[in-house]
Amino acid sequence: MSVVESVVAWKNHLKSKQFRKWLLISLMVSFLIFVSFNEKAHFFLGGIFINIGYRFQDHVDHEHFNYEKGASGLLLQLEDLVKKNKQASLVRKYFPRSVQHPKIALLTCMDARIDTVELVGDTRRSYYTVRTAGSVLEPLQQEMFELAVEGGVQIIVLTSHTDCAAEKVANSSESKKFIHLSSGINERQLNIKNFLSRRFISQKIHNGDLIVVEALIDTKNGNMSIHRIYNKDSLENYIGKINF
Ligand SMILES: [Zn+2]
Repeated sequence: MSVVESVVAWKNHLKSKQFRKWLLISLMVSFLIFVSFNEKAHFFLGGIFINIGYRFQDHVDHEHFNYEKGASGLLLQLEDLVKKNKQASLVRKYFPRSVQHPKIALLTCMDARIDTVELVGDTRRSYYTVRTAGSVLEPLQQEMFELAVEGGVQIIVLTSHTDCAAEKVANSSESKKFIHLSSGINERQLNIKNFLSRRFISQKIHNGDLIVVEALIDTKNGNMSIHRIYNKDSLENYIGKINF
């Protein structure tokens, strides 16, 4: 059968109502089989459903709940928070989540506009997250990350973000009021250097078991751009000769 004859035969088939129905059912079944067995498709579809959920909740303003002013209103807000927690935990009781062992740890500002789940497009609880105002990385937080690396973390992403209120405070006359926060922000780069110089951390990087990166988040859309990578090739350039 020539190509032209095949095309004509297909055209005639398509005119048949029965054939069109069979073709539609076959396509739907193929799609369902593809979605059922393709984990990437699961991940993508999950993202679509989560975003549908955001569309339902995001526009509902807190004012909508009409809390009274003063102490009694604050107690009502607290009650509401506990109620929401009970509802959410009841859902989790009947629909438990899977457990992931994080390989990546993030440092982000506590700014509510930074949603770490949204930042990585992943709801699987597969990231350790340390949140501080202005993404400060004081010795306390450095120990938290070191503990995470001991627990198996292989990538640490140290972020800062645009339009950071804490950074603005640190660079204003208010810095005198928030002395510790301001010094944490102004000495962030020194703290990163100190963190990378920690014996355990530098050894892990040197052995190729850990990468630390610095990234900037665009607060408007959550786009994260990596601007420094500390790996076994670049570490010594930054912190100097490593002596183990
Ligand atoms: Zn911030």
